[in-house]
Amino acid sequence: MNKTALAILAVASAALAVQGASPQYSVELFSNHTVKSITAEAINEGVRICGGEIDSPCLILGPGKKISCTAARVLDCRMESSERSFTRLRLDSTAPFRIAPTYARAEEPAKTYCLENAEFDTSNEGMRIVTRVDLESYVSGVLRGEASVLRAPAARQAMAILARTWALRWQGRHSKQGFDFCSLTHCQAFDPPQTAGKGFADNLDPAVRATRGQVLRFHGTLADPYFTACCGGVTEAAGNVWPDRAQPYLISIHDPYCSTSQHASWSRSLSESSLLQVLREALNLPNSGKLAELSVASRDSSGRALTLRVVADGSWTVDANLFRYAIDRRLGWGQIESNLYDIRREGQSWVFTGHGLGHGVGLCQSGAEQMAQLGTSAEKILVTYFPGTEIAAGNDDDPVASSEHFELIYPASQEPWVKQTLETLEAWQKELGSHATVLPPRVRVETLATTEEFMHKTGQPGWMAASSDGLSIILQPLALLARKQILNQTLRHELTHLVVHKLRAKSVPRWVEEGCVLYLTGEQVGVASDSRTSATELEAAITKPGSEAQMRVAYAQALDRVRRLTQLQGEAALWRVLTNPGTEDLRWFQQ
Ligand SMILES: [Zn+2]
Ligand SMILES: [Zn+2]
Ligand SMILES: [Zn+2]
Repeated sequence: MNKTALAILAVASAALAVQGASPQYSVELFSNHTVKSITAEAINEGVRICGGEIDSPCLILGPGKKISCTAARVLDCRMESSERSFTRLRLDSTAPFRIAPTYARAEEPAKTYCLENAEFDTSNEGMRIVTRVDLESYVSGVLRGEASVLRAPAARQAMAILARTWALRWQGRHSKQGFDFCSLTHCQAFDPPQTAGKGFADNLDPAVRATRGQVLRFHGTLADPYFTACCGGVTEAAGNVWPDRAQPYLISIHDPYCSTSQHASWSRSLSESSLLQVLREALNLPNSGKLAELSVASRDSSGRALTLRVVADGSWTVDANLFRYAIDRRLGWGQIESNLYDIRREGQSWVFTGHGLGHGVGLCQSGAEQMAQLGTSAEKILVTYFPGTEIAAGNDDDPVASSEHFELIYPASQEPWVKQTLETLEAWQKELGSHATVLPPRVRVETLATTEEFMHKTGQPGWMAASSDGLSIILQPLALLARKQILNQTLRHELTHLVVHKLRAKSVPRWVEEGCVLYLTGEQVGVASDSRTSATELEAAITKPGSEAQMRVAYAQALDRVRRLTQLQGEAALWRVLTNPGTEDLRWFQQ
């Protein structure tokens, strides 16, 4: 098999992310705190500590030993009696180690967590801590963060499936900040484990084990897995809250199951003076001594308030969500638990009586808990709240997506990038024009769930982005390529390889193929060094590079040679050299 491959063209710091690639979700921890300092302690195994400087040697923290770091301009760390400063710091181990953060607000109770890896960075007055976990560990952390109210196994399983679906849909949500997810409800609340066990695998929630790999789909695509604490008897249609998120399975349904929840009915009395203050300050209503009327002016199809009518020396219509957020900010969170309420006057106060907690869209956690306690399965719970959806089992064969000229085999975890992948391939196929006629009628492309699987399947090192046998293409996880912003480039590169490889005459060396591909895709591969490498050395470096760096140098040289050829003889020479090299060309190959 004549394998071709492309190095992952990544900056040095990003290259770290490829190592140990099966933990593929990076989560910022303690997102709602300013972390001032941290103490890490090795438990049973040593912890490798590597600094921000690429060539600085890593240290080993022995079992029972601690390192403490304080965030200042850099990270000032103390380990035993020695002190060192780092711009950033990476800790990893084959077994869990403890970390204890200290927050800027001293009254926050300090807890100790167990991690297997962590990266520390200074940011905004404090320290940013990011850990990498595999999908199932991430889902377990979300259950710790989001599902503490759920007890019944089937309800927790339903939540695990939603959390997993969400993770697959939204990986890379914070990619601009250098991680996938924050640990707040902005993404999904995530709590790392507090007990060590033998590793993260030991800390998987039973509901996560029971549903491993399962996701919620609607006609083959990942569903938008919204959930809410309590719907108050009727769920909300997504389109009522977020018009661009309307879905046929996110409609309003009647929910009799959450009626026993503590949030099923609530009542809150707010004084007229505090309401007037909120209306004035947050909503810019003018000064007024008296609130003559406060009522729900319009409701959506689920009965939730859309707008309120305010009469006080004039009358206004106020958005119900803005009103509720303003109350939250001014009077404290959760005064008004949902938009499903009525308002009445009682002396100097206004009384809100309502139902439910939260936006009401999707799965109702209170209802799911009740259904589960009555013996309903996780699957039945999910199709109740998301009508028309189905659970895709994790042990299904990998799905196949097809376009006119391509067939893409992918694990469920890579689905969010499938469409982009096929579109890019089709677009580049068109760009290749008549040259593409040498391709098979439908090119087989496969992507894998993890870098380990990629290495195992192709025999290529983990820093390769893709591998090809000349007929089909095997890609690293699409998510990884997308995160490194080389997905489109990799697809164009590999597809061009198939064409060039097919056209290449036997006497043409591999470095010419590589140079042609790079020339045709117009990739940036850096500047070729001045040192003259022989064609034999170049061919060896291209065929079997020892490292990513060596490959990049070889790429630049191959491209440089091909570019000079086109400058001297024009682009047509490229195709002649490739398919039918003359004596002159054969000599050029050896120079
Ligand atoms: Zn290549
Ligand atoms: Zn977030
Ligand atoms: Zn409900």
